[in-house]
Amino acid sequence: MKLSQIFTKTTKTHPADAESVNARLLVQAGFVHQEMAGVYSWLPLGLRVLNKVEGIIREEMNLLGASEVRMTSLQPKENWLKTGRWDTFDVLFKVPSQTGKEYALGSSHEEIVTPLVGAYVKSYKDLPVAVYQIQTKFRDELRAKSGVLRGREFGMKDLYSFHSSQEDLDAFYARVAKAYMRIFARCGLDVKMVEASGGNFSKKNSHEFQVHTDAGEDMIFTCENCNFGQNTEVATVKEGDVCPICGGVLNLKKGVEVGNIFDLGMKYTVPFELGYTDSAGSRSPVYMGCYGIGTTRLVGSIVEALHDERGMMWPREVAPFAVHLVSLSSRDEEMNARIMSSVMELYENLQSAGYEVLWDDRDASAGEKLADADLIGIPLRILVSEKTLRENSVEWKERGVSEVKLVSVEDILQAIEVFKK
Ligand code: ATP
Ligand code: MG
Repeated sequence: MKLSQIFTKTTKTHPADAESVNARLLVQAGFVHQEMAGVYSWLPLGLRVLNKVEGIIREEMNLLGASEVRMTSLQPKENWLKTGRWDTFDVLFKVPSQTGKEYALGSSHEEIVTPLVGAYVKSYKDLPVAVYQIQTKFRDELRAKSGVLRGREFGMKDLYSFHSSQEDLDAFYARVAKAYMRIFARCGLDVKMVEASGGNFSKKNSHEFQVHTDAGEDMIFTCENCNFGQNTEVATVKEGDVCPICGGVLNLKKGVEVGNIFDLGMKYTVPFELGYTDSAGSRSPVYMGCYGIGTTRLVGSIVEALHDERGMMWPREVAPFAVHLVSLSSRDEEMNARIMSSVMELYENLQSAGYEVLWDDRDASAGEKLADADLIGIPLRILVSEKTLRENSVEWKERGVSEVKLVSVEDILQAIEVFKK
């Protein structure tokens, strides 16, 4: 894609939410646009990142054997009354209709998915079931001030699983935990799985997936040696304690919760009478788990964890493009024509070879183009100018690496092939 075709522009001005690094960089680079507190539109470059994150999640969910659905955002009040959450879920948006009726705006989908699955599951032969969706959620958050980390409208992947036994649920829960760790690793993040309370959902088994960054609102105990971790909200350990698993040193760090998994037990299946008939013909309630990932928060967390003073630094799998191609014009007309034909050929060759290329074809200064390349944060920058062409080369620069080198035009495809691995 040519940068001149994208309608957004980079900007030097800070948004109102400037204390948050992710909001500042995402807005300045034209990845998102703030509509009001906690509500963002996703623009071409930002949407490409979000789509890639969602693609990774979708792949891993499908590997678990879960099927994708899209449930409704407008939800019946009766369902929320049935679980008692109409009055207890503090951030629930309640929407009045002109008919006098009220609805809930989807902040989570237990109230929809449980009766939905109940319409199809009758016997043990119908279980297990796992369904997920990637969808916009709404929550009436009071503290919507951390950019896309805490929105009032935000993206979430929510997976729900239904089982005929606790053992089956436990086994699936463990598989989801592993899939989550793969998802976050593919997004370039070092994530710790920590014990959590279960908050609004249940008092049973629950784990959070925490990215360490100072933008985090949670305080997490993590062990230096082993995998032990606990959210301080529920911790059985306190400052100064050693790790209860290995005796190692416990650190207290700030974290952002990018995912959360819960063993819900029968909390929702009992009120919705979701049961099954076992092989002996007797009825029992179904065991249920739910598993969330904040997709838009995940993008914001990547920015928080991976940036420098110049801008964002996208990991390869989620970068909006693989290559940022920069052409610098020359004052000499003949040379300029050579630069243009050479960069156009490179642009087409790279795309034919299957690479996603963002070509900065704007009529802008070298300084502006290079600063924007750093801000946008694509992992590889390739520059064509009078200077490089005199050497029949292009300039190769990896984001986050200070070394700049010349690579000959003939070798460029091969070099990218190696870089991508
Ligand atoms: P938090 O404690 O941060 O308010 P939560 O525990 O209420 O989040 P869950 O109900 O577990 O959130 O939702 C699943 C995931 O959705 C969270 O792990 C988080 O990544 C994401 N998420 C929750 N609330 C928001 C929000 N307001 N904005 C963006 N992402 C969110
Ligand atoms: Mg949570």
